[in-house]
Amino acid sequence: MKIDGLTSKQRHKSRRKKSGGLCEICHSPNMVQHHHIIHGKGKRKQCETVYSLIALCWNCHHGNYGVHGKNGKALDTKLKQDLQRKYEELGLKGKELQYWLGGRYYL
Ligand SMILES: [Zn+2]
Ligand SMILES: [Zn+2]
Repeated sequence: MKIDGLTSKQRHKSRRKKSGGLCEICHSPNMVQHHHIIHGKGKRKQCETVYSLIALCWNCHHGNYGVHGKNGKALDTKLKQDLQRKYEELGLKGKELQYWLGGRYYL
């Protein structure tokens, strides 16, 4: 299954262009990295699309309230819900939608 027809390298490049090297949540330029919205147990690679990547600064990525932080559940869930909305907009449904969300729904 394919969504964007891009290689991983092209996806990262396209996302970098979109974010301009700034965090897509708070617009900070501090240690910006690409986060995989669908992550864990091999899903990172399997579910990677240009939409499942997001540029995050250190704080929004690894800080207390960052997606991987100890209080980061809310942001993690919000990103997953936004991703599901995006995929629904693109016309994905049923098994295909579930696949790209790593096996479950978030809405
Ligand atoms: Zn940030
Ligand atoms: Zn991450």
